[in-house]
Amino acid sequence: MRIDELLARSGDPTFSFEFFPPKTAAGEENLYAALRELQPLEPAYVSVTYGAGGTTREKTIEIVSRIKQDFGLEAMAHFTCVNATTDELRAVLDQLRSAGVENVLALRGDPPQGQERWTKTDGGLEYSRELVELLRSEYPGFAVAGAAFPETHIDAASAEEDLRHLKAKVDAGASFLVTQLFFENRFYFEFVERAREIGIQVPIIPGVMPITNIDGIKRMTELSGSALPAGLEQALEARRGDTEAVAELGVAYATLQCADLLAGGAPGIHFYTLNRSPATRAILSALKLWRPWERATGLAVAPERAAV
Ligand code: FAD
Repeated sequence: MRIDELLARSGDPTFSFEFFPPKTAAGEENLYAALRELQPLEPAYVSVTYGAGGTTREKTIEIVSRIKQDFGLEAMAHFTCVNATTDELRAVLDQLRSAGVENVLALRGDPPQGQERWTKTDGGLEYSRELVELLRSEYPGFAVAGAAFPETHIDAASAEEDLRHLKAKVDAGASFLVTQLFFENRFYFEFVERAREIGIQVPIIPGVMPITNIDGIKRMTELSGSALPAGLEQALEARRGDTEAVAELGVAYATLQCADLLAGGAPGIHFYTLNRSPATRAILSALKLWRPWERATGLAVAPERAAV
């Protein structure tokens, strides 16, 4: 099913999980084990990333198809313009369509390894907006999502310009947006407000990453330009060397963060799972019991569903 239709129909917030294609057979087993653990939480959809430079093309398609067929879950393939001519992009889209995939997250991608600045491939596309246009004009069956950056994309000249480009992407046909990870909710709420002011009306789903590893999250925030709040960093450093304590803090922080986002009107949460289930499972189980989106309006009811 198309996710844009699902979002339009769903009364409750939508929860989704992001996975990446592993490089080894053991990693793949681990991914499917995580999926089995998370399946009872009934995600609205599961997304699968596209490796830098298109390196995971076949795996991305294979995993997305398996998620649909073997797990009966809706799935979305990430897709980038890196290292591909427009004809090569079409060839992958043809494959995705033949595999029964109906949802694509259209991305520019980051510069390939060893290259500092983004330059488009000869005969390829420069910005994700052009990929959205290609999808809309030649592949109307796909629901198309786009990426959004509450703390502004690292290459953007200014927050205002970044937002104008985002508006162009939505006008070209991106029917919902998923954000980069962030740890301060005010960035998300202010971003949504500014987006609405310039006429972006589509759902903007916050991306949340439960912290499980200090060095990993420091690397990721540096690369993505997301801020790691000083207090959170100090609390993590105080637990350095104690993997369990770091993960416990990560789960507690992300649970509060998600509850606040949902109480503030976020249309769902996209979990960056890093192919692991325990953190996301604990957070989402608690959210489904507590239902912060209803408490905010005074409608909270006693949870009836069994916890998973
Ligand atoms: P664009 O929308 O093209 O924007 C890139 C930059 O160009 C921005 O600074 C924008 O302001 C600017 N820009 C846009 N249009 C114009 C214009 N007309 N003139 C001048 N400047 C312009 N990467 C992967 O490789 N694989 C993945 O699977 C993947 N999944 C992701 C999932 C999410 C939810 C997010 C948030 C990111 C993901 N990324 C992934 C990373 C993403 O590819 C990078 O962040 C990339 O640098 C930007 O992609 P984009 O689609 O936002 O680019």
